[in-house]
Amino acid sequence: MTTIEARRSAHQFDLGPARALVCRECGNEVPLAAEFACAECFGPLEVGYDFGKITRAEIEAGPRSIWRYRNLLPVPSDVQEHPNTDPGLTRLVKADRLAAALGVRKLWVKDDTGNPTHSFKDRVVAVALAAARQLGFTVLACPSTGNLANAVAAAAARAGWESVVLIPSSLERAKVLTTAVYDGALIAVDGNYDDVNRLATELAADHEDWAFVNVNVRPYYAEGSKTLGYEVAEQLGWRLPQQIVVPVASGSQLTKVDKAFRELGELDLVEPTPYRVFGAQATGCSPVAAAFQAGHDVIQPVKPDTIARSLAIGAPADGPYVLDTVRRTGGSVEHVSDEEVVDAIRLLARTEGIFAETAGGVTVATAKKLIESGQLDPDAETVLLITGDGLKTLDAVEDKIGPRATVPPSSAAVREALGL
Ligand SMILES: *Cc1c(COP(=O)(O)O)cnc(C)c1O
Ligand SMILES: [Zn+2]
Repeated sequence: MTTIEARRSAHQFDLGPARALVCRECGNEVPLAAEFACAECFGPLEVGYDFGKITRAEIEAGPRSIWRYRNLLPVPSDVQEHPNTDPGLTRLVKADRLAAALGVRKLWVKDDTGNPTHSFKDRVVAVALAAARQLGFTVLACPSTGNLANAVAAAAARAGWESVVLIPSSLERAKVLTTAVYDGALIAVDGNYDDVNRLATELAADHEDWAFVNVNVRPYYAEGSKTLGYEVAEQLGWRLPQQIVVPVASGSQLTKVDKAFRELGELDLVEPTPYRVFGAQATGCSPVAAAFQAGHDVIQPVKPDTIARSLAIGAPADGPYVLDTVRRTGGSVEHVSDEEVVDAIRLLARTEGIFAETAGGVTVATAKKLIESGQLDPDAETVLLITGDGLKTLDAVEDKIGPRATVPPSSAAVREALGL
């Protein structure tokens, strides 16, 4: 028995309501462990639960973070006592001016730029860290398109863990520096994200005390995305929206928002009203949109070429489940050009005072396209997920925006520049 096996078998896992890992393809159940693929059919494993009775009042009385939903997550009941980044409970903004610009009546923006490292990835990493601690790991690791690198490096620093973060060497400067500052081991790889991801899978097999958040502890990590769905419902006054637009990289987030809505209905925390889920991709990396539009069930991998680097996964692991979700709920998957992405970043900023990264531009531009093509009902309540901060992708907008004029320090010169 290796040290880590000994440590793990000596340890009583407390993963709260989590019961087992369940294969998404064949339903095979295995005990909770650091596994991600079914031994029977190689299908992806997902956390299955035995939920107790959960009430709205209990949740509302909980911490002002994702831990208010701890009884719906694979984390111990005392999770908030361990050092973590405690993300979540970001604002849900009623976006009336954006709604008017897009020609819809009831629109909300879920502003996940407000998380500790300014993207929704803090949610998934916080859950992965909490589960990895229970599973006996000591190092937090990941392959990343950028936001995950930030979140892993910060969470590891806060927990006093070592981190190993692998990124494509072409990543935005801001995302490199905002990871490196936490002083973990950051390695830039000459290759694209899919190369980096393959490398991580190889390394995970050899380093048994490294928790690669999105590889060997992926089933737990992925559950963190459910908190976006829970928060949207709670913040709407314990109701489900009628339509939601979600950006798609690996596709995990989209499927988990749907899982959250279904769980809330099953647990009587909301009325199980119908909702439609829409996926958003950039044209330069739109394998899921292409499969949806062609009516296919399998995803043809692509080589990404888009400014939306946080969504640039050419071989999305959860792509087929995104197709299932949007087809079952009556939604769709659309894609938008890089130019539309930049225009949409500026539209959101101009109308709501929210500066989103390129992934947010993808969501807003896709919503616009879905409205124009009649796929989104302009009278139905719609939520857009804005998952990352524009300060991370300044390069996408720097050629388009800037001061109106540079003038000498005189009020006459300012008035002249303003055309007064
Ligand atoms: C990772 C990421 C996503 C999508 O995540 P998946 O679950 O892999 O589809 C969306 N937005 C931002 C900003 C991200 O970093
Ligand atoms: Zn299976």
